[in-house]
Amino acid sequence: MLRRLGNLIAEHAEHLASVETTDNGKLYREMLGQVQSLPDYFEYWAGWADKIHGDVVPLDKPSVFHYILREPLGVIGAITPWNSPLLLLTWKLAPLLALGNAAVVKPSEHASASTLELARLIEAADLPAGLVNVVTGPGSPTGLALVEHPDIDKLSFTGGAATARSISRSAAANLTPASLELGGKSPNIVFADADLDTAVTGVLAGIFGASGQTCIAGSRLLVQREVAADFVERLVARTDRLRLGNPADPQTHIGPVCFPAHQSRIDAMVREAVADGATLATGGRIPDDPALGDGLFYLPTILTSVTNDMPIAREEVFGPVLSVIQFSDDAHAVRLANDSPYGLAAGVWTRDVSRAHWMAAQLDCGIVWVNTYRAASYASPWGGVKQSGHGSELGADAIREYTHSKAVWIELGREMGDPFALR
Ligand code: NAD
Repeated sequence: MLRRLGNLIAEHAEHLASVETTDNGKLYREMLGQVQSLPDYFEYWAGWADKIHGDVVPLDKPSVFHYILREPLGVIGAITPWNSPLLLLTWKLAPLLALGNAAVVKPSEHASASTLELARLIEAADLPAGLVNVVTGPGSPTGLALVEHPDIDKLSFTGGAATARSISRSAAANLTPASLELGGKSPNIVFADADLDTAVTGVLAGIFGASGQTCIAGSRLLVQREVAADFVERLVARTDRLRLGNPADPQTHIGPVCFPAHQSRIDAMVREAVADGATLATGGRIPDDPALGDGLFYLPTILTSVTNDMPIAREEVFGPVLSVIQFSDDAHAVRLANDSPYGLAAGVWTRDVSRAHWMAAQLDCGIVWVNTYRAASYASPWGGVKQSGHGSELGADAIREYTHSKAVWIELGREMGDPFALR
């Protein structure tokens, strides 16, 4: 059934991607690439479905035959954000279904349409009625009703940290467990020995891809002092050539942001950073190009002279805004990178293989990319630490997210012995 669903998604990929672009304003070619990757996730998890076989564990008690069953949790409440609705939903649905659970899905009120389109395909794939359900509406009351419902066995949430805190409080009433995939303030760390042209592309991809509206946005550029001026100059030159425009146009690099209040918030955060002492190297405003009409655009923005304690370096902007901070040596880079409330991802740009592994071990986060950025695979765990959440999507780690273990003890002897002793 999962494979059938994957095939249907592949057949309807262009339609699903254009629905997403219409809803959230992200580039059509990015949404199409995301939707076209979904069948791989269903294929991978279809492969796991008949391999969840528990375990037989020999105990230190020879008269006992002991085994562990791995069982589904039941009904999962899956709450998703607007930025990549179907990708992030698939990261939940494919494993939870393969592992024997059912789902009630609540997409974001800003971008619900593609999830409803997927529900049609789920019906067409002949999944049992009621296995996947979609409710649409705002966080409160719709999402809250799901969070507080006593028959939800687990919540799987992707969204912002403030929402996650509120959900965790509400879920506590029923002690409903929740996995939380949240935002970040991810450092992209460029060493002087890096291939600087490649690193410029990686830093650009990290912060201006999807107009910065990704949880893994590399929104802090940590750059080694001796190459900082040269690197920022190259980066600004590339940034100033980026084309803003209609997200459906294949020539566009930067589309609009998702909704008006989001555009105003990005602008307010940049103004605050400048008031705090940051310097605008480029961007920093809503563009006034008449060709952009009244689209919700924000110029790709680079701020220098940022210190790691400024709000712009600590809070998630979720827009095309990069803060540049200089470091002196490896230890200094690690200190700055880890001095953050978040811990989702990090990028390291270096040609030194020992440094790459040392950095990977030191960084306090869930994903490290070396000489690349913004990569994901169905086989690799995805998740953060600190305010970036807990739990893991994807890869074999997700098996534990959507199952629980049941220990079964079979006493092969007949005697119970002393009724008052722990056996
Ligand atoms: P959000 O937290 O505002 O909303 C996420 C979802 O939660 C929406 O469906 C919303 O309706 C729902 N919601 C809001 N209040 C609720 C409540 N009280 N009870 C139940 N549900 C409630 O996030 P957003 O603005 O849609 O998305 C952006 C955020 O998502 C960013 O912080 C981003 O970093 C994060 N994100 C994380 C990942 C990841 O994998 N770690 C991926 C994408 C986005």
